[in-house]
Amino acid sequence: MKTLPAQGQKAADILQQLQDAKAQDLDWQSGRAMGFVYVPDPETQRVAKEAFMAFLTENGLDPTSFQSLLRLENDLVAMGAAHLRGDEHTVGNFTSGGTESCMLAVKSARDYAADRKGITAPEMVLPVTAHAAFHKAAHYFGIKKVLVPVDPETFKADLDAVRAAINENTVLIVGSAPAYAHGVADPIREMGRIALERDVLFHVDGCIGGWLLPYMRRLGVDTPDFDFSVPGVTSISMDLHKYAYTPKGASLVLYKSKEIRRYQIFTCPDWTGYTIINPTIQSSKSGGPLAAAWAVLHHIGDEGYLRMAKGVHEATQRFVQGVRAIPGLRVMGEPEMCLVAVTSDELDIFHVIDEMKVRGWYIQPQLAFGEYKENFHVSMQHSSVGLVDDMLAALRESVEAARKIPATGVGKNIAQMAQGIDPSTLTDEMLENLLKLAGIGGSAQQGLPDRLQQVNEILNNLPVELNGALLTAYFNQMFTPTQD
Ligand SMILES: *Cc1c(COP(=O)(O)O)cnc(C)c1O
Repeated sequence: MKTLPAQGQKAADILQQLQDAKAQDLDWQSGRAMGFVYVPDPETQRVAKEAFMAFLTENGLDPTSFQSLLRLENDLVAMGAAHLRGDEHTVGNFTSGGTESCMLAVKSARDYAADRKGITAPEMVLPVTAHAAFHKAAHYFGIKKVLVPVDPETFKADLDAVRAAINENTVLIVGSAPAYAHGVADPIREMGRIALERDVLFHVDGCIGGWLLPYMRRLGVDTPDFDFSVPGVTSISMDLHKYAYTPKGASLVLYKSKEIRRYQIFTCPDWTGYTIINPTIQSSKSGGPLAAAWAVLHHIGDEGYLRMAKGVHEATQRFVQGVRAIPGLRVMGEPEMCLVAVTSDELDIFHVIDEMKVRGWYIQPQLAFGEYKENFHVSMQHSSVGLVDDMLAALRESVEAARKIPATGVGKNIAQMAQGIDPSTLTDEMLENLLKLAGIGGSAQQGLPDRLQQVNEILNNLPVELNGALLTAYFNQMFTPTQD
């Protein structure tokens, strides 16, 4: 097991080791990573770093001791509320990311319903396209998920199914603007009407779209309605670390009024230490992400964001047109922002992803789910807008290369063999054998092979419970203390 060095090491050596550690990482600076990263211009990156470091040590735990952080947070919430057409009653908080924002909105809804309506067996209505963060909230906070389908062509929530899913225990309806997978928004206006009719809170997940969609609307693009101007919307999550291009650890959760936000705040006077009052999940927290977000918003400014939105929108249009012109590929639904899901009815999309990787591009695999087909996902963003033609050329080549790879069906066969495994009895040994079959030998810390078609094909053909159990076991092994 690795242990602490007896004597402290030289700063330069340590920093060099840290740089070296990144050698195998996704190359986010290239503009060829179409997911995970949202990269602004170099000057904005510099401002973000300096602002982050300036508040590295300040602690957001106590806003009365660090009043600077309270002010910066209230500034960001005000700017976010105005951006989403809130009014003088709109309130909110800065959080560590979209997941925390979504989880807090769910927790607030649960406790609001318990207090106001006496609901003790809470349920939440989720379209299948709702982000995993809501499943996590349901899991952590003991809420029953009621999943509703989306239209298999448009990927928008089925309104009749939403209506039918609501009952006396429903504490929250969730809609996305847009949902991550296919970049399509739910019918928020109609869902708001249903929420009002049934007197249920309604959260709009604007984690990825909240910042960008209003700019697209101002550019004259036909964008979906989703903000506080829509009757029935009671809370919205909006990440800053996506299309506001701030460093990670930055999101907002906003509420129509203090009446609901009150239930987000956790106060603990009943222990022997100082009284804890936490509006969000974290307690001690660096002021870095907050200060960096504040700095980036001020540095880019309204006109800057409008300009960046124009670039991203035009690049997405060109990309979608280009993909539609490639035989064998099919864009799923009508992307409404800059997130595009692409599938194929004739070739193995997982081979296309591998071939893109060979050519220096990272695109995300999304597995099939029920009647919704497997695909690859592309998030267009600022640092990629100049590379659309390169990307389309790489995609054309990748499709041709994928066509030439003979289908073996090995992945499907392995999945077939594994079908019978009971996820609750999965052992380390079974996992190891499966990994070997899938072509992933060695330890889980060594990373994955370059080509993942077979792994994706296996996962794509397994029952979801087994899939989940396998990936859990794999991560449980991956995080093993360093042995040397
Ligand atoms: C990214 C995202 C989230 C979760 O946000 P994290 O910042 O990754 O925690 C939630 N909803 C949508 C639609 C997202 O795109």
